[in-house]
Amino acid sequence: MKQIALDGPAGAGKSTIAKRIAEKLQFVYIDTGAMYRTLALACLKQGVDTADEERVSMAAEAADLDIRYIDGSQHMFLEGEDVSGQIRTEEVSKAASDTSKFQRVRDRLVYLQQQLAEKYNVVMDGRDIGTVVLPHADLKIFMTASVEVRAMRRYKEYLEKGQACDLEAIKEDIMQRDYNDTHRANSPLRQAQDAVLLDTSDMSIDEVADAIIRLYEERN
Ligand code: C5P
Repeated sequence: MKQIALDGPAGAGKSTIAKRIAEKLQFVYIDTGAMYRTLALACLKQGVDTADEERVSMAAEAADLDIRYIDGSQHMFLEGEDVSGQIRTEEVSKAASDTSKFQRVRDRLVYLQQQLAEKYNVVMDGRDIGTVVLPHADLKIFMTASVEVRAMRRYKEYLEKGQACDLEAIKEDIMQRDYNDTHRANSPLRQAQDAVLLDTSDMSIDEVADAIIRLYEERN
């Protein structure tokens, strides 16, 4: 099976790019952030304090989590309910960043991610794909962009969906999550040694997708 690993901080454009590449190469796009968000939502729904490692770990291990692909896009199910929309809020983003630092939460999801990669050719995006989940990926990309550019991209996404939002608050959230994700003890966000670094601040979606597909084709 073929594997492309795409890591980077919040709002670097990973999911847009990963979807585009998966479509072009006929691979399955696996959004691992959505999995962390779904387990965080399970905690929020049960009123679990997201700082309480034991209770979060127990809730994460017990949650009835399912990933289904409907018309080529990934849907997350929690206790039988499609929560793909519910996981896209600022509250869940923050909770996911808090709960993803716990090892038992990560263990459950890394196992699931590796199982998917055994079954399908995948483009997988996240924070630890090149370093932990798929250490032997055929291509590893580490995507970054300036905080300003990333906040502006998120802001436009929310506006397009008609959600109220505040640019400064989004920027704060991104900086806080960057800090959490890079400073945690378990699988911190970092560039794998053999990953290609792409700064997308001044690149269009097409330019980034084309650059990654070119790199993949050169190597295969
Ligand atoms: O990518 P997304 O913003 O949806 O991820 C939400 C949160 O899930 C991140 O801030 C990060 O804390 C966590 N995450 C992670 N490892 C991954 C993917 C996401 O820790 N592979």
